[in-house]
Amino acid sequence: MNLILLGPPGAGKGTQAVKIVEKYDVPHISTGDIFRKNIKEGTPLGKKAQEYMDRGELVPDSLVIEIATDRLTEDDCKDGFLLDGFPRTVEQAEALDKFLAENGKKVDWVLDIDVAKEELMTRLTGRRVCRNCGASYHVVNIPPKQEGVCDECGGELYQRADDTVETVENRIEVYNSQTKPLINYYEEIGNIAHLDGAAPLDEVFAEIVKVLGE
Ligand code: AMP
Repeated sequence: MNLILLGPPGAGKGTQAVKIVEKYDVPHISTGDIFRKNIKEGTPLGKKAQEYMDRGELVPDSLVIEIATDRLTEDDCKDGFLLDGFPRTVEQAEALDKFLAENGKKVDWVLDIDVAKEELMTRLTGRRVCRNCGASYHVVNIPPKQEGVCDECGGELYQRADDTVETVENRIEVYNSQTKPLINYYEEIGNIAHLDGAAPLDEVFAEIVKVLGE
């Protein structure tokens, strides 16, 4: 199954991704995670991406397309994949479709998770992420048992550099202007399902299972 998670930052894509991967056994490909790993390791790619990410802007299409399509040629993607945070522009979507068509594949489902802006602001500015395993928490809504410590692995929880109020505002604006047009793009293809991301996590996942099937 070839899947895409679409939705504004903070819609819960990462959280649903963990559940989808577990149930459908597809690799989780997050371009944001790939960039963060490269930043941590101080690679040339990380250095290029960081300036855009810190401002809440999109990394240039050519760079992202190369990274995403490279990752999709890896062996674990041959029976399916879950893209999270890619594509984010119509140009990226077109490049992805072209790449898949050349390999005799297509996108099966686009899962579009939507949440109102005020809720996104609350979710993102309160988000804390485990430095070690990537598990996501929220200072109010999903607090860890011990402040600053991951329940799963004991790792240190931190606030992403781009989860500050100012950067979050910009990321939501960038989503509305550059990524939202993808909804129409996939609407025309007819492979998009809309999900209410304001619902409890398990309900959102139950809706996803209805779309993808048991
Ligand atoms: P995310 O973890 O998906 O919220 O991504 C964090 C940041 O990485 C974004 O705000 C962008 O700066 C960059 N990024 C991740 N994926 C893409 C993409 N598909 N296109 C452009 N920039 C991206």
